Amino acid sequence: MSPDDMDDLLERMKASPEELRQTFHDIDKARRGAEAVPVLEPNITPEPDLIRAVGPAFRFHCPLSCGWFHDEPLDTPGDPTRIILPAAFSLEDLDGALTLNAEAAGLAFRTRVEDAVTGHYASQHPEH
Ligand SMILES: [Zn+2]
Repeated sequence: MSPDDMDDLLERMKASPEELRQTFHDIDKARRGAEAVPVLEPNITPEPDLIRAVGPAFRFHCPLSCGWFHDEPLDTPGDPTRIILPAAFSLEDLDGALTLNAEAAGLAFRTRVEDAVTGHYASQHPEH
């Protein structure tokens, strides 16, 4: 909205109490909507670089540029994906199980990176 737009709006609002009431209602509705948006938890994970020197991995550098980094392999060895489904499963069951599996893997990935970063901060940057 430009200053001219604001002047036009103010003139229209002076001329029409109903428009003023409606504008206030719209602003108040938008404000209540903004209050209803959940607050995101703080994210300490720095943006990674994709590297291939140690196998495909994401490299997370220290945000304070001290030279430390943590490599997180993209294909972590371990248990192959196991999905438990009912005997007569539907496509929705399969989709739900795969989604749950992906969310669990994503959470585990994030937890490993956050643990590495917080451990580094605790040992090297305790003042932060
Ligand atoms: Zn550091």
